[in-house]
Amino acid sequence: MPAAPPAPIRLLDLPAQHAAIQPELDAALRRVMQEGAFIQGADVQLFADELGRYLGGARVVPCANGTDALQLALMSLALQPGDEVIVPAFTYVATAEAAAILGLRPVPADVDPGTFNLDPAAAEAAITPRTRAILCVHLYGQCADLTALRALADRHGLALIEDNAQAIGATWQMPDGAVAHAGTVGEVGTTSFFPSKNLGCLGDGGALLTRDEARATLLYELANHGQARGRKYVHQRLGLNSRLDTLQAALLRVKLRHLADWTAARQRVAAQYDALLADVPGLRTPQRQAGSSHVFHQYTLTLHSEARRDALQQHLQHHGVPSVVYYPVPVHRQPAYAYLGYGEGRFPVAEQLCRTVLSLPIHPGLTPEQVAYVAAAVRMVSW
Ligand SMILES: *Cc1c(COP(=O)(O)O)cnc(C)c1O
Repeated sequence: MPAAPPAPIRLLDLPAQHAAIQPELDAALRRVMQEGAFIQGADVQLFADELGRYLGGARVVPCANGTDALQLALMSLALQPGDEVIVPAFTYVATAEAAAILGLRPVPADVDPGTFNLDPAAAEAAITPRTRAILCVHLYGQCADLTALRALADRHGLALIEDNAQAIGATWQMPDGAVAHAGTVGEVGTTSFFPSKNLGCLGDGGALLTRDEARATLLYELANHGQARGRKYVHQRLGLNSRLDTLQAALLRVKLRHLADWTAARQRVAAQYDALLADVPGLRTPQRQAGSSHVFHQYTLTLHSEARRDALQQHLQHHGVPSVVYYPVPVHRQPAYAYLGYGEGRFPVAEQLCRTVLSLPIHPGLTPEQVAYVAAAVRMVSW
């Protein structure tokens, strides 16, 4: 392999992504500045409608960020303090935080070691008389087993919420053959437009997804001080001030037009990594969930041990290849969640993944030469 990367390799390259569409972004920015409606301007609803169409006709309610979206989704269920919400033990902290901040009890359940997503059998075992909802996550860009989770929720009279911050545009094959978009199978789906997400804005942003018109109205009110749409100073319920800025919506409208191409580019990078790394002893390339497409928010390897993972990360760093551990500590071992009372060893798959996963650079701007360089650097390490 060459001594140095063909061009500097970044985990993500937003400046390059923006440069490629600079005139479109500039025009949107200038237009919003001239129109002057910075809160709830026309672009917000236009973006919601366009994203809804992209997601197969879902209703989209924009909000301030993906964490608020989770909180609003749970608020729409009218739960009581102490009610339990099952969450995957391996996820970003926001998933559990949204439940905990509302006085609900996040109940972790272990994940599948191959797909990294909530294991339906573990979720079922975590159900108690106080369980009200299952909050699954489509981690790294592919769906959790939505057929099993939907059936489980229905069997026990629970709501299903999908944290779709990482899998926008991924699809799920329903048992009847229909194709559903990630985030539209549960009562509510949520997503995030944090800049590094597959569809990211230039700041914070998020949205709620639902197929239910009445719930869309409820979610809109919850995100807007409980105010009925179009009825200023009439507050139906307690809500949040959680809005997507007009400017972000205008920029997202531009980026949404490129999302399908960017997703295809991510899938090409992943396919090249798969081809170059599938046979390397001592590591496992990402496993696919049957029934789901994969939009590759992350391309995540699993190593045999923490020592090997850390050694590979150092080796890559030395060769100019950045990599990241998403996530080094499971939620139940975070200091803020000690009150839940889960000790080390309680969720062994999640804990082992925290020690052994490593995500390689993946973004639409990576060239085949750069991907080959990364793979060659990985292959230099042999155990
Ligand atoms: C990014 C992310 C969130 C939070 O989104 P924000 O917009 O940063 O609040 C929630 N869940 C998952 C799985 C995420 O990746």
